[in-house]
Amino acid sequence: MINDFVTGKLGNENAEAIVPDLKDFLEEASEDDILKVFVQDRHQEDDPEMTHWGPHAMEDEEGAEIIPEFKGLANRKLPKRFYDAFYKTDLELTLKQHQIERVILTGVTTDICVQNTAAGAFYRDYDIKVVKDCTASMTKEKKESALDYMEEVFGAEIVASEEVIEKW
Ligand SMILES: [Zn+2]
Repeated sequence: MINDFVTGKLGNENAEAIVPDLKDFLEEASEDDILKVFVQDRHQEDDPEMTHWGPHAMEDEEGAEIIPEFKGLANRKLPKRFYDAFYKTDLELTLKQHQIERVILTGVTTDICVQNTAAGAFYRDYDIKVVKDCTASMTKEKKESALDYMEEVFGAEIVASEEVIEKW
């Protein structure tokens, strides 16, 4: 949830629409039990995605910063240069250091970064939940098909934020 994906270069109303629910969800997550890792797209000019999407989330630019609504909510911030938040990042090490066995995925974009991160989590044997009211895609159809894919292929449990908060 960085500026470029919500209100910036690749922003859209579906991404903006999940901000209130996702903010509530993050605020409900107790810091004692839950590590809130904000993975930030942060690109350099020679990254492969540049030819595909054009420049976005460029390092040191405002577009790569977490949206202002979420300031102060992260326990960790990890930069990434590819869709999958595990690929060439410190995410796996960070999860291991905290003995974490389950990842709960939120944010954008459901059919790109969330889905590729779910794949990364599946390959590493994590239990996966995806919070349906806290993820968004450019279209509702793309989001629904990505949720179905993650459920079928990676065994992800697709949940509502309320269900998760009740168990906390
Ligand atoms: Zn990117």
